[in-house]
Amino acid sequence: MSSRIPKGLSRTVKEQLIQRVLERRVQRMEDYGRPASKKPAAPATGDAIDERFWRFDQHPVYQQMQLLREGAAKLGISDPYFRVHEGVAGATVRIAGRLYSNFSSYNYLGYCGDPRVNAAALREIEASGTSVSASRVVSGERGIHRRLERALAQAYGAEDCVAFVSGHATNVSTLAQLFGPRDLVIHDAYAHNSVVVGAQLSGAKRLPFPHGDLGSLDEILSTQRRHFERVVVVVEGLYGMDGDFPDLPELVRLRRKHKVFLMVDEAHSFGTMGPRGLGIRDHFGLAADDVDIWMGTLSKSLASCGGFVAGTRALVEQLKFQSHGFLYSVGMPPPVAAAALAALQLLHAEPERPTRLQANARLFLELAQAAGIDTGPSRGVALVPAITGSSIRAARIAQALFERGVSVHPIVYPAVAENAARLRFFLSADHGEEQVRSAVETLATAWHEA
Ligand code: PMP
Repeated sequence: MSSRIPKGLSRTVKEQLIQRVLERRVQRMEDYGRPASKKPAAPATGDAIDERFWRFDQHPVYQQMQLLREGAAKLGISDPYFRVHEGVAGATVRIAGRLYSNFSSYNYLGYCGDPRVNAAALREIEASGTSVSASRVVSGERGIHRRLERALAQAYGAEDCVAFVSGHATNVSTLAQLFGPRDLVIHDAYAHNSVVVGAQLSGAKRLPFPHGDLGSLDEILSTQRRHFERVVVVVEGLYGMDGDFPDLPELVRLRRKHKVFLMVDEAHSFGTMGPRGLGIRDHFGLAADDVDIWMGTLSKSLASCGGFVAGTRALVEQLKFQSHGFLYSVGMPPPVAAAALAALQLLHAEPERPTRLQANARLFLELAQAAGIDTGPSRGVALVPAITGSSIRAARIAQALFERGVSVHPIVYPAVAENAARLRFFLSADHGEEQVRSAVETLATAWHEA
């Protein structure tokens, strides 16, 4: 591809140029898959059809990616994506032969790589192989699926639970199945992409409310509730980009007041919050049935892959028989289910792990704030952002840290708004105090240099 960033520009001009590209709104995720409101711009037939409409290398999103890549290279920023990590990503990780202090993996409790979890997965491979070779509803059901689901339901005090092969698919399939065109999905503005996509696919009206602003949510519900049949409010137990959490008792009150469903995505909060690490419910001491849909992932604290929904028998049964991501997808591989179950059992036996994780995150937050780093609304539970204010600055600081032996990822536009670009530090129960202190010192130096 020919270079579109002219040579000989000063660094500042190049930065401004890239900044402008970033600020231009790329086709937003929400617009994908929507029927075009106007007629397509392309002539209908023949050689005259524009190359953009039949070549992926001419696709505007791809072209913009190339432009940004090229710009970053010209600014001396190396590509941080798809780096091969060797072995287990724990408190440290090896990349291209060098050992790094690792803050870029959500192995919160250190159970990925734990020999006891590995052994459970290996035993299950010996027992049932590596695939169940069918959807569970037909011939893919195995004992390990039910053992895992029962254990998850028990951890919530819920009637039942269903496990999906992907966390992302759990949100998409659950929302798309349960809600429809006469319904409303109202979610925190910082909700994960899987919630947005699930809501879109459902055909329900989708409304975001300002992040964490339950007063606004109450107002919206007061005016909007009556226009819809079912209404679901979706929040995260711990926000994966910001490290803060909602006032769940207040949400429970609003749920009762407005007669809506409440769904909590515990991807980052299960295993990390509460005295027993059992999530935001454990943190606030709430009852299982205060929330209608407890959704979680197995890919973080539980050292595996997949997602789950815990709730009433009626909810779980409906999802098992009707939700597309469950019904039309293969059952979870036995070793994957076994690893998650082993990690959950270890969590029950080792409540000191979430306690250590919480202490590490609190220490990181306090030190970072003392060093003048913008940590946004983080409450210092499992992850702490360092908000740099621009994608270029985020990439630059991440690179400086990488060169100094700390692995942390920049989160740039469009994953977050351009002025909210950041580094995201995931803490682990396995980080040592010295490791946390040294990482924040390195961050502070790079932060003030950039
Ligand atoms: N929900 C949230 C809040 C997440 O952060 C993620 C991914 N990190 C998911 C759902 C999807 O989970 P998974 O990566 O396990 O598919």
